[in-house]
Amino acid sequence: MANNKNLAINLTTNDDHLDCFAAERCYQAFMKWLEENRAKSLSAANLRLKVCQQCGHCCMGIPCTVKPDEIKPIASYLGLECRELFNKYMVIDKYDDTNEFIRIAKEGQSDIVGSILPRLRRFDRGYCVFFNKNTRLCNIYPVRPAEAKDWNCWERQSPDEYNHSVFAWNKGQAIRFMEHK
Ligand code: SF4
Ligand code: SF4
Repeated sequence: MANNKNLAINLTTNDDHLDCFAAERCYQAFMKWLEENRAKSLSAANLRLKVCQQCGHCCMGIPCTVKPDEIKPIASYLGLECRELFNKYMVIDKYDDTNEFIRIAKEGQSDIVGSILPRLRRFDRGYCVFFNKNTRLCNIYPVRPAEAKDWNCWERQSPDEYNHSVFAWNKGQAIRFMEHK
């Protein structure tokens, strides 16, 4: 059982002063990095197949988002309470004024789990924390989010073709949800 300190949620962020040009530059560099890796990956799309090849590219850089009803099954699967799951492995991505996501953290983000994702940390590089580099499988595969089940890289050429907003939470909903868990 985690102690109370671990259960506290840090919902503050102080990166509002970051200038848009810096964010845009980071975004462009990040997308270039993703695109270069996508070109090299042995993905189903690159191999012109219609069956996942477990290359892991879709778990790199932009991990799955989760909807409210997906949190408890993942927590139960890992033997955690919902808030423990959030505080160990997830961040709130306040993407814009209307869309918020609960997103699984990337490797290297242990310092910000359980918090609002600082804007520029959205461009951290690395795999989803649940991607197993040895087996190249998802560590929560039986309870993986709908976004993972729906991805199917062979159906699109770029992440931009995918309507990620269907996984957004309403404004303030993610924070309220986690405050009451
Ligand atoms: S769905 Fe993801 S893991 Fe599977 S082949 Fe495509 S990019 Fe690779
Ligand atoms: S939850 Fe699983 S499928 Fe989704 S990004 Fe992480 S490792 Fe990949």
